[in-house]
Amino acid sequence: MSSNCALKELAALIGESARVDHPLGAMTTYRVGGPAGVFVRLETPADIERVVAGLSQVPVPVLVLGAGSNILVADEGFEGLVVALGPGFADMELSSEIVHAGGAVPLPRLARRSAAYGLTGFEWAVGVPGWLGGAVAMNAGGHGSEMATVIVRCGVVDLCTGHEMVLSSADLELGYRHSGLHPWHVVIWAELALNRGDRAESEALISGIVRWRRENQPGGSNAGSVFKNPPGSSAGHLIEQAGLKGHRIGSAMISCKHANFIQADGAAVPVTSSALIDLAREVVAERAGIVLETEVKMVGFTAEQDRQPAR
Ligand SMILES: Cc1cc2nc3c(=O)[nH]c(=O)nc-3n(C[C@H](O)[C@H](O)[C@H](O)COP(=O)(O)OP(=O)(O)OC[C@H]3O[C@@H](n4cnc5c(N)ncnc54)[C@H](O)[C@@H]3O)c2cc1C
Repeated sequence: MSSNCALKELAALIGESARVDHPLGAMTTYRVGGPAGVFVRLETPADIERVVAGLSQVPVPVLVLGAGSNILVADEGFEGLVVALGPGFADMELSSEIVHAGGAVPLPRLARRSAAYGLTGFEWAVGVPGWLGGAVAMNAGGHGSEMATVIVRCGVVDLCTGHEMVLSSADLELGYRHSGLHPWHVVIWAELALNRGDRAESEALISGIVRWRRENQPGGSNAGSVFKNPPGSSAGHLIEQAGLKGHRIGSAMISCKHANFIQADGAAVPVTSSALIDLAREVVAERAGIVLETEVKMVGFTAEQDRQPAR
């Protein structure tokens, strides 16, 4: 745990761009949760240098935040440094079959731009509300594809050393909603290889995906799939079989539309969502003998709430 003193010292070292006790909830799609001990929006390489210099003197836990669409933050918040990429990392360049984009580019925008440019292979990402950096870190995917299929390489800054590395798809060790990146690694850009396609076909595919999402997934405050699908099974199906569809704790509810989604209403608090996660895991373990592993990143919870099944 980092002390308040250490966090204030770190903020002073980083300078003007550092915010102490900065609220995180509104920066996540669940829209709940406490503050970051220190928060810095990275707009330029100089911001990164200041963070690296600060961390070298006051090392504290680091969390890189993207669009916050796969994160549940505890009421206690995150006692460390949270960094997020700013608009300076949201450029896109498209050429014949290569897309080069910054880590803060929203996936739906990149999917639509690629399709409009006559490129195919990234339409699936229109329904994933994260940013490119977070998608690389999570190996986001859907509709039969994933980042691992399209990524060629990416630029990663190590906030502990300040080194910028160019990592290939193999270097990233991408697996199911997993990469080998560390919490102090920031994906600042990525390059994707797509195929020449037909603009009208890609745009029709995108419309179909958007329609399918509306029909099959809930809106409101959620963070997508709460659990990873266990091998050969579906977490949503297991939760539904356990009779938990529509189950509510306080202002958080297991979605009636898709049982692997937890919806938080306006007044929800993180602990109610986290209690539902624990409940679903326990009931499914009892009934099906399968211990579900969270896909959502639990930030700032106690070790007990944040536990993952042993591998
Ligand atoms: C309605 C809805 C539908 C969704 N559908 C899908 C889906 O179909 N498929 C799917 O895979 N996911 C889905 N998600 C989850 C989420 O959108 C993805 O996991 C997305 O890739 C997360 O990106 P983010 O920018 O929001 O990352 P965050 O949620 O901010 O962070 C997620 C993880 O990535 C790390 N991270 C974020 N940015 C960076 C960066 N620049 N460098 C290094 N690490 C970083 C964080 O530290 C954290 O560990 C859905 C979410 C919602 C709300």
